[in-house]
Amino acid sequence: MKKVYLETFGCQMNVSDSERVATSLAANGFEITPNEDSADVVLINTCSVREKAEHKLYTRVGQVRNSRRVKPVIGVMGCVAQLEGETLFDKISGIDLVIGTKAVGRVADAIGKVFDGDREVSDLGERERDYDWSVADAQRHSPYVAFVPIIEGCNKFCTYCIVPFSRGREVSLPASTIIRNVLELRRQGVKEIHLIGQNVNSYRPQSDSGMELFRGSTPFSRLLRAVAATGIERIKFNTSFPRDFHPDIIDAINEHENLCNWVHLPVQSGSDRVLRRMKRGHTIDSYFKKIDRLKDSARDVALTTDIIVGFPGETLADFEETKRAVEYCGFDSAYIFKYSPRPGTPAYEMQDDVSLGEKKLRFLELEQVQKRTQRQRLQRYIGKNVQVLAEKTSTRNAGDITGHSTCHKLVNFRGSNDLIGNLIDVRIREIKANSLFGEVC
Ligand code: SAM
Ligand code: SF4
Repeated sequence: MKKVYLETFGCQMNVSDSERVATSLAANGFEITPNEDSADVVLINTCSVREKAEHKLYTRVGQVRNSRRVKPVIGVMGCVAQLEGETLFDKISGIDLVIGTKAVGRVADAIGKVFDGDREVSDLGERERDYDWSVADAQRHSPYVAFVPIIEGCNKFCTYCIVPFSRGREVSLPASTIIRNVLELRRQGVKEIHLIGQNVNSYRPQSDSGMELFRGSTPFSRLLRAVAATGIERIKFNTSFPRDFHPDIIDAINEHENLCNWVHLPVQSGSDRVLRRMKRGHTIDSYFKKIDRLKDSARDVALTTDIIVGFPGETLADFEETKRAVEYCGFDSAYIFKYSPRPGTPAYEMQDDVSLGEKKLRFLELEQVQKRTQRQRLQRYIGKNVQVLAEKTSTRNAGDITGHSTCHKLVNFRGSNDLIGNLIDVRIREIKANSLFGEVC
């Protein structure tokens, strides 16, 4: 039996793609191994959102190629594979196969061709009509948490972003397929699902099928109510696009306990001038109004975000507005990125006039502002009970269990392994830099 080692970079969609690739490879007679050194095939699932992520591919292929006496078959999947296609064979020596983002259902065929003697095998074709979106129990990143794609691709074309090119246009899965997957996951003992997509709230399936009985102001809020009705314990969703974030999503969260109290809403910048140049489709004022509404919600909804510093033309005054926005919104956490020019995007044609040194300074300064506001904001959890899904033993302290709260905080607490897989009420005692610490109530 040929062994395949799968390595994944990037977003949840890549993790989810890898899980489905592992499922189909195992069904086709391959063994998925956690041990790179004994693998016959090394598959690298790539990310191209920032240049740094793309460089990792070059480094990794070199390492795999040079670490063994007999080179394993090396395959590249994901966004870099889709964007660079067959040119990768010339750019990086040692690559045997290239699989595009929609061809992940045919990886077993492609590997088979390489073992049959074909050289430089590539598949950048479209997804099969009957593509199977399910993941075998054994191939999930966690026995208790599952990613459920609901929409793939992106139509927004923010000027800095490569995703619409690497992932294609938005295609929503039928609600009936999503509900069937969720019911199956529940049957398998999964406690928490994440409905995933580049912009989940842009969800627009071709038919009503599966959500006929559920009301809502948008297809996404109807889907949320339909998924809530499956009775699965916890439902999270990620990422939400600010312009399309309808207040009915907050209403749905307030109506259904199993819709978790966490929203990830990337603001990207606090300056209207920069937001316009990014083509984000929201102003900072419209964003603040959505935040105000979230903060007024009956449930305490945790808010997280993404921010880019050093976008072309970002002045110090623009940057000050981003700092103000961070203070105003009080994010529970924020991913801050230094702008990275991506060839082929509209922003790549703009002058990248904020120096790398200045980007670093702005990154560090904004990180300080976020850390300070985050510390204050997280104080509200002290003495409060949060429900935590006990996921595994803490890597730092064998006497601690680690998991996530409904508000998607990483929570550690003293406890024994027999708690793993259960939903535990934890009283928060301490706020750490990136986690909470508590004790079982
Ligand atoms: N669809 C989501 C949205 O619109 O908010 C985000 C998806 S994107 C893959 C994840 C994050 O990567 C973005 O929110 C953005 O902050 C960051 N990102 C995307 N392109 C970038 C670039 N060229 N340079 C730096 N960060 C970038
Ligand atoms: Fe990229 Fe914008 Fe689409 Fe998000 S919405 S994936 S940032 S183009």
